[in-house]
Amino acid sequence: MLFVGKTDTQAATYTLPVSDSWTDGELTQQGGYNFYRVTIPEAGTLTDSFSAAMPLSGIPTIHGMLAQNEDFDYYRFSLSQETPVKIRYINYYNSAMPEPGVDGIIDIYTSDYVVLEHKRPINRDFLFEKTLSPGTYYIKISKFYGGSGKYILQYSVNTPTPHYHVWDSGKITRKATCTQTGEKVYTCLTCKETKKEVLDKIPHKYRTTIVKATTKANGKITHKCTGCSSTKTSIIPYIKSCKLSRTVYTYNGRKQLPSVTVTDAKGKRISASNYSVTYYGSCKTVGTYKVMIQFKGNYYTGSYSSSFKINPYAPRISSLKALRKGFSVRWTKQSSSIASGYQVQYSTRRDFRGSKTIRVSSYKKYSLYKTKLSPKRRYYVRVRTYKTVSGKNYYSSWSPAKTIITKK
Ligand SMILES: [Zn+2]
Ligand SMILES: [Zn+2]
Repeated sequence: MLFVGKTDTQAATYTLPVSDSWTDGELTQQGGYNFYRVTIPEAGTLTDSFSAAMPLSGIPTIHGMLAQNEDFDYYRFSLSQETPVKIRYINYYNSAMPEPGVDGIIDIYTSDYVVLEHKRPINRDFLFEKTLSPGTYYIKISKFYGGSGKYILQYSVNTPTPHYHVWDSGKITRKATCTQTGEKVYTCLTCKETKKEVLDKIPHKYRTTIVKATTKANGKITHKCTGCSSTKTSIIPYIKSCKLSRTVYTYNGRKQLPSVTVTDAKGKRISASNYSVTYYGSCKTVGTYKVMIQFKGNYYTGSYSSSFKINPYAPRISSLKALRKGFSVRWTKQSSSIASGYQVQYSTRRDFRGSKTIRVSSYKKYSLYKTKLSPKRRYYVRVRTYKTVSGKNYYSSWSPAKTIITKK
């Protein structure tokens, strides 16, 4: 295709070779070749004239005329969307124009002044029919030779009726994963146009594995995505201490159970739902009782054993009498369930430093005579119970002390 672009606008008349099929217009033959003559106007004239072009929209038919002293008529039209355009140019005697026509050339340009069409129609209609993309277009009517004459220019557009897409339910062309977005393509049921939709990444699907913590080693929770390499781990601190609320009780005839507090290596309390507590034995009579903490559930395993004691309660001195160089003491009798015997302690000092202790080996004996002490001396006396269970002695606390002064 032959065209003259804006960049070639060196004002001159050019003779250019063309193909045989180009038979319209100013075709000449030289030495067996076909040549085509193109006149390029002065650059200034060109732009001035283009910029002063007359808008065509709303004017279906122009009855134009190129006068003797006039070289060009310029027209323009603008399209905001892709539009089928029809341009008709007539310059010969016919029923529409029974007057002398101008021997004219019609040029249609894009907004970049690129020639879309260049014709010199002789004795017939010129019809340009094309769907053009959005932009501004120019039409130039010029004379091939001098003279003057009339022409008719018709411009019409076939504005497409607005189309509203009716999208189908869409097809997933790429599935979304936890690392990559997906894509869904919708197709218009009428015009087959497509549009794409980005599908959000799906959340990671974590599979959790747990290594349980023990009293010696940390545990670990690992979340690993089944779809990618994403991994999250957290530590379960090991079980550091299991404490009983009390380790020593005094016999009271009822069952006595200390509560348990379990703490991890970070000093945080471990909830009771993670372990069960077993108390062995009666937890009532004098003795030592084992407490077993067994860990269970998802996060902890293993066990911990502890113990607490129940001691006899203290007897009370019911009478303390002075004797010659001695004293006699009597206390409340304890039952065999808490007492195997007693200990009587005496001292010249209130704080029992340097005291002496006398063992009474039967719970049935609850009085004592002590002689061979210093005469006229103040003595402090106190008593406690002991109970022997499985070869081990359990002592009550001391009774409140009483005091006497020995006789001479
Ligand atoms: Zn559509
Ligand atoms: Zn993932």
